Amino acid sequence: MTATIIDGKSVAANVRRNCRARVDDLWRRFGASPGLAVIMVGDNPASTVYVRKKIQACADVGIKSHKFLFSATESQDVVIAKIQELSADPDIHGILVQLPLPKHFDLKAVLGAIDREKDVDGFHLYNVGGLVVGETVFPPCTPYGVMLLLDNAGVEIAGRNAVVVGASNIVGKPMALMLMQREATVSVCHVKTRDLAQFTILADILIVAAGCPNLITGPMVKSGAVVIDVGINRLANGQLVGDCDFDAVRKRASMITPVPGGVGPMTVTMLLVNTINSAARSLNLAHEDFVFEEL
Ligand code: NAP
Repeated sequence: MTATIIDGKSVAANVRRNCRARVDDLWRRFGASPGLAVIMVGDNPASTVYVRKKIQACADVGIKSHKFLFSATESQDVVIAKIQELSADPDIHGILVQLPLPKHFDLKAVLGAIDREKDVDGFHLYNVGGLVVGETVFPPCTPYGVMLLLDNAGVEIAGRNAVVVGASNIVGKPMALMLMQREATVSVCHVKTRDLAQFTILADILIVAAGCPNLITGPMVKSGAVVIDVGINRLANGQLVGDCDFDAVRKRASMITPVPGGVGPMTVTMLLVNTINSAARSLNLAHEDFVFEEL
């Protein structure tokens, strides 16, 4: 068997076209323009690249972005004061704090300062709690993007065995909750899981988000499984790889996402979706008043 490639770039491009149309529609019919505030503290090189990509993506679909840079030595109070100011600003529909923050910051306090109605990253406790009961306003972008890839590929979720490798607050745990919401039977594995292969081999849908190259080898994958590789790892030779031994796993799986070009392009795209939805919510538009193709 050779797995079909799930092309995240192409799915993301379609969603972004839809985003552009929705932004135009909001402007034409309601004179509203979605606005995203991006806060970055310090000059972490990876964060700088991510922030640049997010701002470019906003520009591509017509979302107004506003960047606020603070030095790594800035006090938490100053950053929180800016978040509160943005939370009260009606032209801002989404606030995102680029992580990681410098060590002297209390992550919970910073994320908690974001108005939950503008929490487009979906990291506020209110939105995290909403995931548990299936009523989150803003699903976190990476797992949201994975769900869209699965749906777009026509993968049946209800009743299937789903295994999530990685249990972080921003990827693994929300991923597991979203799969549960869709009635998959979900197992979550992490560093302390004994005999990882014993779980992965049962997965009809295997989602890997551990940040360990070659963690998942061919024999660990059930024949015909759908494999979504969220991991992004830079090897010593500069190559970007996921968490799966791609060539070996591809021979076992029925579908697989590549790295790069799989989940990555979806993450920023879902941030755009959440920001546009937030702008529509701020206008109190009923779903049917705000015409757009279902994603
Ligand atoms: P993280 O916070 O470091 O969490 C990694 C998780 O994987 C933890 O739960 C950890 O377990 C678990 N883990 C680590 N090594 C493991 C092993 N050998 N066996 C089983 N579980 C293991 O990372 P993250 O933010 O969730 O990101 C995970 C990966 O996805 C990274 O490579 C990151 O770069 C990538 N990522 C990609 C995107 C994208 O858009 N494609 C977005 C976000 C993240 P413990 O909890 O027990 O420590």
